[in-house]
Amino acid sequence: MIGVATALHLQRRGWSVVLVDRSEPGRETSYGNTGIIQGEAVRPYPMPRDFASLLRIALGRTNDVRYRLLALPRHLGPLLQYWRNSAPERHARISAAYAPIITRAVHEHDVFIREAGAGNLVQRNGFHLFHREQAALDGAIAIAEAMRAAYGVKFRALTADELTRAEPGLKQAGVGAIHWQDSWTVSDPGGLVTAYAALFQGLGGAFVHGDATTLTQTSSGWSVQSTDGRIEAEAAIVALGPWSPDLLRRFGYRFPLVRKRGYHRHYAGGTSLQLPLIDTSLGYGMAPMARGLRITTGAEFTGPDAPPTPVQLDHAEAAARQLVDLGDRVEADPWYGTRPCTPDMLPVLGQAPRHRGLWMNFGHGHQGFTLGPVTGRLLAELMTGESPVVDAAPYRPERF
Ligand SMILES: Cc1cc2nc3c(=O)[nH]c(=O)nc-3n(C[C@H](O)[C@H](O)[C@H](O)COP(=O)(O)OP(=O)(O)OC[C@H]3O[C@@H](n4cnc5c(N)ncnc54)[C@H](O)[C@@H]3O)c2cc1C
Repeated sequence: MIGVATALHLQRRGWSVVLVDRSEPGRETSYGNTGIIQGEAVRPYPMPRDFASLLRIALGRTNDVRYRLLALPRHLGPLLQYWRNSAPERHARISAAYAPIITRAVHEHDVFIREAGAGNLVQRNGFHLFHREQAALDGAIAIAEAMRAAYGVKFRALTADELTRAEPGLKQAGVGAIHWQDSWTVSDPGGLVTAYAALFQGLGGAFVHGDATTLTQTSSGWSVQSTDGRIEAEAAIVALGPWSPDLLRRFGYRFPLVRKRGYHRHYAGGTSLQLPLIDTSLGYGMAPMARGLRITTGAEFTGPDAPPTPVQLDHAEAAARQLVDLGDRVEADPWYGTRPCTPDMLPVLGQAPRHRGLWMNFGHGHQGFTLGPVTGRLLAELMTGESPVVDAAPYRPERF
């Protein structure tokens, strides 16, 4: 999503752009997500800091976070920074830097959705944050009210009866839900990226297969090997999602990343939902998609090449079966991928501090599917020397 959206924004500013990917556009993290264009997510996810929550995670008593003990040492450094940045005052400052891009995200998607003729993939009716306990729902409503007061994001608090009316397929409605009304949802997230890539190519942009690890600096700019031969350019943009820090390490940059693996699987033949539903107490989501009802999981901290251990997905499936008639599993093996989260929850966007013409746009964490078009625009504006749509200072790579 990030690479394709950036390519589109550069193209409309007159750049000649080649999009290079080892795979097809929209086949990795931007394929596997919950498909919500999260206009409501003005506060990025903080890490829990209270002792009770941390103890529950440590003892494996929560389904939204899971870790493999042997993999923990590699995560500890970024997690410690993430923990520090989740303190209330820091998190408030970070949210103030995050909100300007989130609140523009739906509009920026709208432009591309119209131009790409992809409206058939998009619902504009929001999603439900489902709660099983009244105290948790009351707390969430208080936070939602604060977000509405500060940023104008729209929501409705639904009682269990109201939720049942909105979602007749639910077998139980807990204590109700928050209906976030500003967010849009997509029935095929990878398909939306494909549609944006087709728009880019239709307007004359080139897409080629190639390996970004062949990127080298030349006397006049940058060069990368593709299946169509070597591509020379004045500038290069690293938008490799969770793979970005690995490539940038070769140029001497060390970006910490909180690597949160998530899983999904589709279910078909049962009852579907009208809108995506996030089951907050069990830390998973259910989203009606073209392939069936997609269940997505929270964060797993494991090794980058560790085999799949879909324990959270199994728990989520069991919990989801209490709520809806799920039907059958569509795939034998679940999909999994990594949310590229920075320890300060903000994307890395701007020019490399020590390499002229090397630009970065990655680290969009839990909301990269949402943020592609707006951060693509911001990076294109910086590269072109236009005055940017929002202040880009909080995202600059130098902060790491
Ligand atoms: C379970 C889950 C649910 C989520 N739900 C949501 C949601 O509802 N809403 C939301 O906004 N976000 C969501 N996210 C987060 C979102 O999916 C990501 O932030 C976003 O997709 C990142 O996009 P990206 O373009 O940076 O990375 P990617 O989509 O991973 O793209 C990276 C690209 O780089 C290419 N690449 C990698 N290495 C190389 C190489 N060496 N050479 C060439 N090409 C290479 C890959 O092929 C890929 O196309 C979710 C994530 C997960 C895991």
